[in-house]
Formats: sequence, structure tokens, C-alpha cells
Amino acid sequence: MLQIRELSKTYPNGVQALKRVTLDIPKGMFGLLGPNGAGKSSLMRTLATLQEADSGSVLFEAVDVLKDKEQVRRMLGYLPQDFGVYPKVSAEDLLEHFAVLKGYANRRERREVVDSLLRKVNLWDARKRKLGTYSGGMRQRFGIAQALIGNPRLVIVDEPTAGLDPEERNRFLNLLAEIGEQVVVILSTHIVEDVTDLCPRMAIIAKGEVLLTGEPLKAIEALKARVWRKVVAKDTLARYQSEFNVLSTRLVGGRPVIHVYSESQPEAGFEQIEPDLEDVYFQRLRAHAKAA
Ligand code: ADP
Repeated sequence: MLQIRELSKTYPNGVQALKRVTLDIPKGMFGLLGPNGAGKSSLMRTLATLQEADSGSVLFEAVDVLKDKEQVRRMLGYLPQDFGVYPKVSAEDLLEHFAVLKGYANRRERREVVDSLLRKVNLWDARKRKLGTYSGGMRQRFGIAQALIGNPRLVIVDEPTAGLDPEERNRFLNLLAEIGEQVVVILSTHIVEDVTDLCPRMAIIAKGEVLLTGEPLKAIEALKARVWRKVVAKDTLARYQSEFNVLSTRLVGGRPVIHVYSESQPEAGFEQIEPDLEDVYFQRLRAHAKAA
């Protein structure tokens, strides 16, 4: 269990990236969902001991994460948002290099670790290829391999699916799900489906604040009978947006389909629908923006 309490951070330019963030993150996949600029990376970097918080505390299995950084690093696997690779080096060689840095001094043992990780992330056949020739999805799988060196008990992946095509994304998420059973895995993302597909627990954050935390299914349940859908004409869209609590607008076959949050039928023509996590997400973001 990772316990985050009242964590705050203001950057020197005055941006308050984290506002008294409090979260309990148990074993398994945990989705940290929020729009760009919400503070996800700031939180991830703080948990990964790469930057300092101003105040608050973080406890992981009795380790004080903000103070005992060395100890955290030994338990941590981290895939940063901007994970860069050396394009001219092979996957095998770079992974071996990371294993040396992680403290695998024994050559034979190191080989075993590297080989098993390359197989695990399905890059065995491509292990001798230069990383510069890898696709985005392959690079992310390589990123996960390096994060898993040394069997970390806390795994942090920051926006890993951005830029992946649907097939690569699926493959990547399945891989994460496999890891996620025994350890704490925090997946930060702005893509709602990443969380829907994968995470039994989640938090939504925006502007440095936690807007909701818990189980996606329960959050969806709480919106039951309050989400309405209508296909509207393009030139009436603005009216709907000003009169109703519009959660989302999507074009389907070129026509706008809106989702509206309301306790009763907003007007004729609206049909009640089963809410999904995207409705939950937009409802929270809207309520928060309004309150601000
Ligand atoms: P996210 O990962 O959710 O997109 P970030 O944690 O990257 O959010 O950013 C949160 C806020 O803090 C944003 O307003 C961003 O511009 C700002 N920010 C992030 N890093 C820095 C920094 N090093 N210096 C100043 N402001 C920063």
C-alpha cells in the first residue's frame, strides 16, 4: 500500500501543481486520470524521488518515500513520460547496461534477467535491432522491460499509451495487467479507456487536486439514470451547451451526439443511457471547473 498524505508542490514560477493530494494506492493497477497539466507527472516524479514536494508525506511499506530515497529507488520501476533511448544501441545491449546500473554485477545472473525480460515484453526476436528502428509500441515495451529490472514492488508508468496505435496500445496494456497483480502499479494517463480497461481502482485529478478516488465501477454506478444522450443539429449545439450540463460532444457519422448530465429528462428527444467512465470523468471535471 502506498499512502500519500496532503502532498503539495508549487513550482518557482508560481504554478501550484499539487494541492494537498491524499491517496491510498493498494496493490494492483491504479489509474491516475487527468487532463494535460493536471499534475500527474509532478506526482509521478515526486513518487519516483526525482523531485521534492513542499509538504506532505508518502509512505510505501513503512518506507518514508520523501526521505529514504535510496531505499525507494531499490524498490521502484519507473517509465517516464519522455523515455528516451539511444537510437544506435541494440535493445539487448541497452537493457544489459541498465541492469548493470541497477546493481547486477554478476554477468551470468544479469544475462538471465535481461533475457527473461526481453521475452516477457515480447522483444526477444527484435533484441539485436537498434532501438532507433523500433516502433513507438516496441519502444514502450522496451521501456517497461527496463522498469522491471530488479523486480520492483512499486511500478510507475507515466502516460505510456500516448502515441501508440490501437494494437500496440492493447499489447502494452495487457503486458501491464500481467505485472499488476503482485505489486503497486500506477498508470498515469489522460486516456479514459486505459483506466476502464485495466484498473480496479483509480483517481481523477485536475489542477493539482484529487476530484474522485475509488473503484471505476462504483463511480459509474453513482451516475446511473443521470446521463442522457441526443443526436442534435450542428447549428443547435451552442444552445444545448449553454442550456444544459453537456458532458461531451462527439461526431457520429458527421452528426453531433451529446451526453448531458441531468436528474430528469432534459427535454424531448433525449434518451437515458448507461453511463461509462468517460461520463464520470467529464462530469467531475465540469463540476470542478464550475466550482472554481
Ligand atoms: P500532467 O502530467 O498532468 O500533464 P504536470 O505535472 O506536467 O501535469 O504539470 C502540472 C502543472 O505544473 C502544469 O501547469 C505545468 O505547466 C506545471 N509544471 C510542470 N513542471 C513544471 C516545472 N518544472 N516548472 C514550472 N511549472 C511546471
